[in-house]
Amino acid sequence: MTRSTSLPIAELAEKISADLGADAVSTDPVKLARASVDWAHMSPILKEKLPAGRADLLVTPRSAEQIPVAVKHAYDLGVPITPRGTGLGNYGQAIPLHGGIVLDTSRCQRIVAVDEGTVTAEAGARMRDLDNELRRTGQELPIFPSTKGSTLGGFLAGGSGGTGSLIYGTNADGFVRALDIVACDGSGELRHVEGDATVPYIHAYGTTGIIARATVVVTPAYDWAGVFTAWDDFDSATGFLRSLGAVDPSPRLVSLDEAVIVGALPEDPALDPNRLSVRAIVRTETVDEVRRLVADQGGEVLDVRADSERVSALSFNHSTFHLQRKYPGIFHLEVAGEKLWSDPDAVRAVYPGTILHLELMRTEVVGMLMASYSSPEQVHDGMERLEAMGVSIHSPHTWILERRIDRVRAVLEDNDPRGLLNPGKLPPS
Ligand SMILES: Cc1cc2nc3c(=O)[nH]c(=O)nc-3n(C[C@H](O)[C@H](O)[C@H](O)COP(=O)(O)OP(=O)(O)OC[C@H]3O[C@@H](n4cnc5c(N)ncnc54)[C@H](O)[C@@H]3O)c2cc1C
Repeated sequence: MTRSTSLPIAELAEKISADLGADAVSTDPVKLARASVDWAHMSPILKEKLPAGRADLLVTPRSAEQIPVAVKHAYDLGVPITPRGTGLGNYGQAIPLHGGIVLDTSRCQRIVAVDEGTVTAEAGARMRDLDNELRRTGQELPIFPSTKGSTLGGFLAGGSGGTGSLIYGTNADGFVRALDIVACDGSGELRHVEGDATVPYIHAYGTTGIIARATVVVTPAYDWAGVFTAWDDFDSATGFLRSLGAVDPSPRLVSLDEAVIVGALPEDPALDPNRLSVRAIVRTETVDEVRRLVADQGGEVLDVRADSERVSALSFNHSTFHLQRKYPGIFHLEVAGEKLWSDPDAVRAVYPGTILHLELMRTEVVGMLMASYSSPEQVHDGMERLEAMGVSIHSPHTWILERRIDRVRAVLEDNDPRGLLNPGKLPPS
């Protein structure tokens, strides 16, 4: 791999600035430092490895068409390229481990077309802006992450799911209709891929190509309500979680926090720090049914809000974020499986003091397991024990890509023959 110190950065900056304008490149040390970090520090294991890489050049294209111009110059000069959206990824996926360019796509924000059933936008469009624009046409995004201010490209290339995944699955389950990608092959062109051919680019950290534009599926806009409930014990709270899975039409998000997490969330009269919280985003026509379920099962409805954004913003890794702010020595694992609610004590026994955040999905329950951190060995030993009992784990303690490696490798020879795209993120072959 090319070492950062030997890269022809000045020549590259000159070429890109000649084509895209002087304001498209920067070697300002403060900007380079900012462009070289993401939320990897949420993992105490990754935190010990930081800083893990630093950009030599920040390139900020203003449109999808400008991306292949920059990529071709980098290809010709053999300079690594790490794409970036808003840098909200939490495994270090956006860290330029081998230096080179950080290609910040966040200013490529054009919403190209809102059609019936799809929206096409440049990679840097924010998920929130897309959803707001869609609402004007009576449509909405079927899924979006709890970090709704993040980019479309970053969510597709680095994220996975969020609000709506309970109904529609992850970003690799048919959400993406087509992509215009930029391969690092010297072509200097945008390449259009559709349907199954988009899969190698989803959650691939930009190792197979840079997403310049994306067409994603949208649905009619529904009326949603955010329901906040409180529960005295884990069994009744998870019982309610299960029963929400049968509500028809389905909720789009159902999150459970144990009381310790609730106590770490921003203060809100709808969050009781002494009880478990189950929050759901439900169709308004099902609110009465949901109220009945709560009453029948011994919980309490603390609030029902027409604006459900807050429920989204407290879901998934936001529970980790808030708990770590209050208790900095916490690590987390992304976990899934029946055992989480059928035998929580066995799960808790692996790391004493375990705290659970659960999310209801279409066919299973997933969540964040949080506990006090002592060492990488403690975390890894516990992961083995959890897996042995049937809890599946996605580790947030590595920036090495773990999903769909075969699909990624199948396009690498064509798309990245010089190994310049986000190097250091693929497992050894
Ligand atoms: C508190 C917290 C909560 C979170 N909640 C969720 C959640 O609910 N669901 C979820 O899925 N994730 C979640 N995440 C992770 C992350 O916020 C999302 O995945 C987010 O959508 C990433 O978007 P971004 O624009 O910040 O991408 P970045 O972090 O900038 O990039 C992510 C990855 O994609 C690559 N990339 C960026 N843009 C492109 C592009 N145009 N083409 C190719 N590759 C590109 C980067 O190199 C990097 O590998 C959370 C993170 C935090 C810190």
